[in-house]
This record gives sequence, structure tokens and C-alpha cells, in this order.
Amino acid sequence: MRNFAHIMNVEELYQIYLQNPAVQTDSRKLQPGDLFFALKGPNFNGNAFARQALDAGATFAIIDEEQFHIPGRTILVDDVLSTLQQLARHHRRQFSIPFIAITGSNGKTTTKELIHAVLSQKYKVYTTEGNLNNHIGIPLTLLKIKQDAEIAVVEMGANHLHEIEGYCKIVEPTHGLITNCGKAHLEGFGSEEGVKKAKGELFDYLRTRQDGTAFIMKDYDYLLQMSHDISTIITYGTADADINGKVADAGTFLQVLAWVHDTSIQISTNLVGSYNLPNVLAAITLGTTFHVPIEQIKYAIENYRPSNSRSQLIQHGSNRIILDAYNANPSSMRLAIENFVNINCSRKILMLGAMAELGADTAQEHEHIVTLIKQHPWHEVVLVGLPFKAFASDFRYFDNAMAAAEWAKNQAFEDSCILIKGSRSTQMEKILNSITN
Ligand code: ATP
Ligand code: MG
Repeated sequence: MRNFAHIMNVEELYQIYLQNPAVQTDSRKLQPGDLFFALKGPNFNGNAFARQALDAGATFAIIDEEQFHIPGRTILVDDVLSTLQQLARHHRRQFSIPFIAITGSNGKTTTKELIHAVLSQKYKVYTTEGNLNNHIGIPLTLLKIKQDAEIAVVEMGANHLHEIEGYCKIVEPTHGLITNCGKAHLEGFGSEEGVKKAKGELFDYLRTRQDGTAFIMKDYDYLLQMSHDISTIITYGTADADINGKVADAGTFLQVLAWVHDTSIQISTNLVGSYNLPNVLAAITLGTTFHVPIEQIKYAIENYRPSNSRSQLIQHGSNRIILDAYNANPSSMRLAIENFVNINCSRKILMLGAMAELGADTAQEHEHIVTLIKQHPWHEVVLVGLPFKAFASDFRYFDNAMAAAEWAKNQAFEDSCILIKGSRSTQMEKILNSITN
């Protein structure tokens, strides 16, 4: 028998959201008072968890399959995901504050967190939590924004064309920053040109706004080209930009010397790797654009510590370990190795995990990395994951991180510097655990 449930529109739903502004999509994490959105994934149907969420204290469950309707408790919509996104856009439109969107191949989260740290010195800033930068994370980020917000900073990740375009329709950013366009997610983008087109959708959107502002790393010519016809362009870089800076030292932690108009500042970061220079310059640039005093910009950057295996420096006994196991792609892998070449240490050990999502370029891109490795002397090189198997006769090789961790457990590393880097899926942090335990 058909149950004639009422399909609710976004305006009606927004009134309910205003009474219950805590949104949850995972029934296991539900807190009493949350509004539960029953999303569908490849392996689950959130509709089936609506009752569980309600039993756990959800005020309402938003569903899109009538058979799960519970009168008075569930709210039926056409499509839960698109409703979540429309609700987020509706909420975003209540604010006339700067919305800063950050995308790019590498360094989005680090840049976002540095910018958040700097702007928080002066403003109430809402930002993406961790790496929640996709079609679900972005609306959830927006729906967390409260009335006291003065600035929002939103990370946008993408692995296919038109994704950023869609996110811009939800976030409607006033400001945008593309960190860089490199070799990442080549599987979905096809080529580096594809990457530029996809990331460039942020600038395409900003071009449509009279108040559109883009922040550009001036050293990257392609970013300048991509930003044509945007109302306001603010640049940072190593020369001739609005904000200039350079690496003062990257022996261990990155130290930056920057010039903000006529004032120079020296910043000692807790970040490893000279590849973080653009990220730091971006934060200085955003800080000065929004009139955060220089001393506070310096304080915020110096006190930012990366987490989640993102370029973390770990001192363990006489060993120094750079853990960069959060992600890897050909661009970030190359930069991490080049940076490691330059650090001061006589016993350098490379532990590299395979790079994921490279599609047809997988074999070639791993070969490029091996070619780079062979150009420098190492105390030891450990390669992990099948795409590296072709080089098993050149270097120590393991099929997976578990096997490498087993091996590492029985090694007595001393006075060594160890770079551990690989794609998230290779789980290179397992090796760290066996070295440090
Ligand atoms: P994701 O796509 O997973 O969200 P992300 O773009 O947010 O990644 P981060 O998490 O900030 O990037 O950094 C991940 C890794 O990328 C770092 O550990 C480092 O190896 C590399 N990286 C960071 N900043 C840069 C940069 N400006 N240029 C190139 N590589 C970078
Ligand atoms: Mg990220």
C-alpha cells in the first residue's frame, strides 16, 4: 500500500534546520538533537539507517525512499544528497561575508589550515574540518557556519571535470586560490591540461562575479594565464609579486623570509620541506589582504603544527623521520624527494610507497620516480607496492607496507634520516609504527 508522504522542499527544510542546526550523515556518530541525512553510498543505503538514527536521538531523518517513511519522524525528499547540497547553498546565502575557496593538486589542506590560523587572529573563521573537501564534506562544512561568522575558508578537492564547477554553485565563493596544478588524479583528468581545466573552474566562477578575487602564486605562469579577467588578482611569489618571500632555510624545518610591502619578516615554521613555501606565502598574503597585523600573521604561522601524517617531522632516538604518508602523486613525490636531497644528514633512507590513481600513466610515473632516486646517493631505498615491483632488482622491495614494516622492525636504524612517503592507500604509516615501537 502506498504511503502518501509529503515531499518537502528546501525552504521548508531550512526552517527545520534552523531549529536543529547540527547535521549528521553517519548514524554511528549521531548525537541526540542531530538532523540525520540518509545518504546512499556504493555499499550502503542510509535510508535503512533512518530508524537507528532516530532511536539514537535524531530530531528528524531526511530520506528519499518512501518505504522507510515513519510519519512525524522522517522527512521525504526527492534526493537526499542534492537536498543536503541545496540546503547548504541556502544557508550560505544568508551570509554576506568573504567565502574563500581553495583548490589545487597539492597543498590545499596545509594552505587552508595556515590561512585559517592567520585569519583567526582577527576574525571568527569557519573552515573545512580536516580533509572534508568533497560533495558531502563541502555542504557539511557550510552547514556548520554560525551567525557569528566573519570569514569562511572552504577546501575543494576534485578528481574529475565539472566537480569544482558544481562546488562553486554551492559555495558561491567570493575569493579563490588554486595552490598549483600538477600531476594528481591523472586517472580522472586525463592529463595535466585536464587538471588545469578542472581546477580552473574555480576561476571560471570567480570571473562571473563583480567582487571575484583570485590569489595567485606568481611563479606559476599557468596560474596567471588562468586568472585572466577576474576582477581582482593578488599575487604572491619569489619575485615581483604583491607579497614576496623565499626559503631562508629548509635544513630541518622551513624558515621563510618574506616582505610585506616594505617590512621584512622571518618566520620559523613547523613544516618540513621547501615545497611549503607557497603555502606559507599564501597565508601571509591572505592575512595582509584582510588586514591582520604582521606580528599576528607571524605568530599564527609559527604556531601551526601539521597533523595526520602530513609532512610531520618525528625525532625518534637518534633518527629523524619525515612522515608524509597522507598522500602522494608524481608532483608531491618528486618535491618531497628533492627536498630530502637538500636536508643535512649523512644517512638518508627513502621509504616510498606506490602512488595511486594514475591510471594508464602508472608504470611510467613510477619509473620517473625511480630515475630521480637513482640520481642521488642514499644509504638505503625501500620501495613498497606493486607499481614499484619492476624495480625490485634495483632496490629493496616489498609488495605491501605490512611486509615492509615486518622488515623494518628488525633493523637497527641509527643516526638516520628517513623519508616515508606514499599514497594513503599504501598505508606507509605502518612502517613508522614498527620503527618507533
Ligand atoms: P588532498 O588532495 O589529499 O586533500 P591536499 O592538496 O590537501 O591533499 P596537503 O594535505 O596539504 O594537500 O598536503 C599533502 C602533501 O602534498 C604534503 O604532505 C606534501 O607532500 C605535498 N605538498 C604540500 N604543499 C605542497 C605544495 N605547495 N606544492 C607541492 N606539494 C605540496
Ligand atoms: Mg586536503
